[in-house]
Amino acid sequence: MTYDRLVCANCAAPVNEGRCRVCRAVRQQMERERDQGPFSGLNPAMLIALMVLLVAALALLA
Ligand SMILES: [Zn+2]
Repeated sequence: MTYDRLVCANCAAPVNEGRCRVCRAVRQQMERERDQGPFSGLNPAMLIALMVLLVAALALLA
């Protein structure tokens, strides 16, 4: 996800300009999320549910 055109709700300037504290916080958060990879958006409960489904499917196949 890109934040090039994201406008800050606090200062109404583009977030990537980092004009206010909120902009910088949002920018930092997005950089963190990007660094963590595609699975960072999934919550742990979702991951566990997926794991259980996978194991069930393997058990059925075996
Ligand atoms: Zn701002």
